[in-house]
This record gives sequence, structure tokens and C-alpha cells, in this order.
Amino acid sequence: MSLTDDIKEFALDLGYSKVGITTADSFNEYIEKLESRQSMYDFYVEDPRQPLLGAEPKKLMPSAKSIICFVWDYAQKSFPESLVGKIGRIYQGRCYNAPPHRVNGARFQLMQDFLKRSGCEVGKGINIPERWAAARAGVTTFGKNNFVYAEGIGSFVLLGSFIVDEELEYDKPTLEVKCPEGCTACMKACPTQAIYEPNKLNPRRCIAFNAWWTQDGKPAGLTSHIPHEIREKMGTRVHGCDVCQEVCPRNQAQLKANLPPDNFLITLAQDFSLPKMLNMTDEFYATRIQPLMYNYIKERKYFQRNAAIALGNLGDPAFIPDLEIAMHDPEELVRGYAAWALGKIGGRPAKQILESSNSRETSESVKEEINMALSNMR
Ligand code: SF4
Ligand code: SF4
Repeated sequence: MSLTDDIKEFALDLGYSKVGITTADSFNEYIEKLESRQSMYDFYVEDPRQPLLGAEPKKLMPSAKSIICFVWDYAQKSFPESLVGKIGRIYQGRCYNAPPHRVNGARFQLMQDFLKRSGCEVGKGINIPERWAAARAGVTTFGKNNFVYAEGIGSFVLLGSFIVDEELEYDKPTLEVKCPEGCTACMKACPTQAIYEPNKLNPRRCIAFNAWWTQDGKPAGLTSHIPHEIREKMGTRVHGCDVCQEVCPRNQAQLKANLPPDNFLITLAQDFSLPKMLNMTDEFYATRIQPLMYNYIKERKYFQRNAAIALGNLGDPAFIPDLEIAMHDPEELVRGYAAWALGKIGGRPAKQILESSNSRETSESVKEEINMALSNMR
């Protein structure tokens, strides 16, 4: 058996859904596209993971010859109804940035150990464009919504890769958009019109981007501020947005499949109630939220902010007492967004809370949110 066959067999045996192999050559088309949209993607280009450099793997690993790309179908079990529309399926799938003591992290580790045992040097910390690599390795095609689709699965997939110094047998690239002719369902359904042309996304309008990139200290001057116009479109989405994948005909078979329950998710789901998240303690965050949410949002306050937005968008006065508690939160970010949410819910009780909060508030940014909320109520 060749090393290529051996690697593919081991990956499939571990549970990966597909595995393909491509060269370690540069991703020139990706580089061109990213550079031509640099002003929109400045935060990404300037990210410490250096995506432009990662697109030329041999610059970071001169011995690199092959990229082994795998696809993991993270939707093999059903997602609790109470979490859908609140937490993106990929985060519920627990596969992004999974630590080695979790099943997806352990699988990745086993694969890496296997490659090393097989005599491969394995590249470390090289941020290759995974979607382009997977398509070049023949395991996915593109959708106009910018997601990749694996044949027979759909777009609810995690991509991963290993760069190795061995020359392997390469698969036929499938670098193509394979959407049914004339379909624009994803573009029409996007709540913020973030997909402004087929295969072109304005990240700053994307809900998924706004839910997690907007953290203080990110590159290109990104802050924790989410524009008012986007907040209103976020609905109850606390982390991630699946709308442009949910409406996609290429995902309907997967979405309609009768899947077994995910008992882990069922156990945690009750703790993802919006009021609980809004006013959670450090302990609740560490013991109830982080076991599922070890992905991109690293601090409690950002979940609280997003929960406040979701409660505001629900517009239900029953949540006013929860938001009143949040107006006393030590984090000004939480107080500011709770004020916005109270303004969205409106009515006399919400107004009274905003007025009394304003009289004791010391943060200028929170006062600004309060005054804006009050002026919108008049
Ligand atoms: S993830 Fe949501 S906001 Fe972003 S492009 Fe898709 S539908 Fe639009
Ligand atoms: S909704 Fe239609 S256009 Fe968009 S990715 Fe799916 S098939 Fe392609």
C-alpha cells in the first residue's frame, strides 16, 4: 500500500468524511482576490496568523511538498431546537479549535501522530486557505455563499489540513462553483445583504463576523462596537449565523435528515437561555458556556453583549428585569448593550430604568447608548 493510500485509509478510519491531497504550491488566485479586497479584509490580512504568508506554504516550510486536506461532517447528530438560531451549528459541532482533550482535538492529534510515525515532517502554525486547499484537493466545491460543499454532505463541514514534506499522489482539483443555475437563495436570504455579489462577501455586514470579530484588541482597529443597523438584523444569533446555508438547496437533504440526538448538546442547551447568558457569573461561564464555546469568543462580556442584543431584538417586556440587572454589570460593554436592548423593547418601565441608570452612570460610552435609546423612545 502506498503512503498516500495509507494516509487516506487512516483518516477515514478515524471518522473523517473525506480526505484529498494537493501540492504545497502557492494559492495565487486566493492571494490575488484577498489583495484586491484588502480594504474590506484589512482585519484579516493584519491578523497575527498571517493568511497571506500562509497562502505560500513553501515560504514558511521550504521542505513542504503536499497538503493533506480532510473534511469532517459536524452535523451527524441533530441540533437541539433551542440552540438553532442562537448558536451556529459549527460551534455546536465542537470542532473549531478543539483542544486535544475533546474528541475532535484528539482525532486531529491522532492524525498528526500517524503522519509523524509514517516518517513525515508536519508543518506547524501555517495558516493556509483551507477552503481553497480542500477544493484543490478535490474534496469540496464552492457555493455562491462562500462556503464549501462536500459531495453527499453539504456545507456543514469542518476543513482541516496537514502540510507534509512527502511527495504524495495528488487528487484532481474541483475549484468550481457548483450551484444550480440561477440560484441566488443565499444572497436573497442574508439578513444584512452581506453577500453583495456571488462569491463576494462584505465581512463587516456579516452577522457571524459581527458576533465574534468585534472584540477589543483585534487587528485593523476593530473594536467591540457593533453598528446599530447590524444589531437589529442579528435577531437571536449569539454566535454564528447559518441563514445562507439553511436556505441552500445543496443542504436540504442534510437539514431534512432524521438524525440521532446529541446528548451532550441536550445537557448543555438549557444553560444557553438568553437571560442566563446575559447575567452570568465567571463560574457559570467557565462551567456551563465554555465547554461548548471554546471557539472564537474568548471573554464572557462578548457573550453577554450578544445576549443583550438578542433580548432587545425579541422585544419582549418580560425580559426587562433581566436587562435591569445587566444595567448594574461591572462591564460597561454589557451596560451599554443592555441600554440598547431596553430602548428596543421600549415602554414606560424600560424608560424609567434607562433614566435612573443615566443618573448614576459614569461611562461616557454607556451614557451615549442610554441617551440614544431614550431619544428613540420619544
Ligand atoms: S452568515 Fe448570515 S449574515 Fe453572514 S453572509 Fe451568511 S446569511 Fe449573511
Ligand atoms: S443558496 Fe443557491 S446560490 Fe447560494 S450557495 Fe446554495 S445553491 Fe449556491
